[in-house]
Amino acid sequence: AAGLSQKPLCEMTQTRDGVRVRLLVNINLLSELKTATDLNAEGIGLYRTEFPFIVRPTFPSEEEQYVVYRRLFEGMAGRLVSIRTLDVGGDKVLAYSNITSGDNPELGLRSIRFSLYHRNLFKQQLRAILRAAAGADHPRIMFPMISSIDEFREARQIVCECIDELAQEKLAHHPDPAIGIMVEVPSVVEIIDGLAREADFFSIGTNDFVQYTLAVDRTNEKVAQYYRPWHPAVLRGLARIVRAAVSAGTDVSVCGEMGHEPEYIPFLIGIGIRTLSVDPGSLLAVHEQIRGLPLADAEVYAQDLLAEETLGAVSGLLGRYARGSG
Ligand code: PEP
Ligand code: MG
Repeated sequence: AAGLSQKPLCEMTQTRDGVRVRLLVNINLLSELKTATDLNAEGIGLYRTEFPFIVRPTFPSEEEQYVVYRRLFEGMAGRLVSIRTLDVGGDKVLAYSNITSGDNPELGLRSIRFSLYHRNLFKQQLRAILRAAAGADHPRIMFPMISSIDEFREARQIVCECIDELAQEKLAHHPDPAIGIMVEVPSVVEIIDGLAREADFFSIGTNDFVQYTLAVDRTNEKVAQYYRPWHPAVLRGLARIVRAAVSAGTDVSVCGEMGHEPEYIPFLIGIGIRTLSVDPGSLLAVHEQIRGLPLADAEVYAQDLLAEETLGAVSGLLGRYARGSG
């Protein structure tokens, strides 16, 4: 990107007509933090905690986790940092633990279900996050694969227990992090208004939302042609989630891959998304695309897409739009 300023001001990312869009990053490895801060990302929209678990021969201790999480809060001081609790199972396997296996791992004891079942591991992780967040300005904890309001309450209750315990133990911690959910299981769409009232924020995981809405394994190449984020059920589901969040005043962002794909960015902005969390390597391109995008056009375009009922009609519109603006 020669010729561009070394440090693009992502704080200044806005549509062509001046509507602010916040750009956050997805972080898998601490080594990616440098790219994110060099590019002046406004914060971390998703830190995937699986990696400290995957690289060790056994479950990391509370202390080992604390050290990793602390570096995130220090590296992003003053900015938003969203840490997702453990999302093992499905495509994210722990070699030393067979407790996530099952004949159908994508639908098995994974993700938040694993954490609620192995409550001691969950509490260790939450304590490590809360301690690492001591003094942080905008810490956020989010739970992956939430499928009901009850499950969200149960997980949040455990965070509250951890906060009480840390206070009793007089250990430095953050007493009041924002607590939100990954929206990625289609069962929440029908109850999304209630969830929007309860959760502090939504982060939409389109990778899994597409997988589960369409019943297509996201990692199986044999069915890759069925993995279609432009399916009308996906687009309408996303629009409904955003509408519920906006009307409840609940912060909402997209952290799945649709958030950095040029063909979907106008749609996402058009349905009301104002925060995208993308891989550090995509940040600049997303920033540039949004700067060229007029909001009014994106809104009309999104409504046109939502009106279509077939895959063919939607992909026709996507293609025409891409050619028209390309
Ligand atoms: C998603 O499902 O879209 C997501 C961001 O989470 P992951 O890719 O880690 O499952
Ligand atoms: Mg996911």
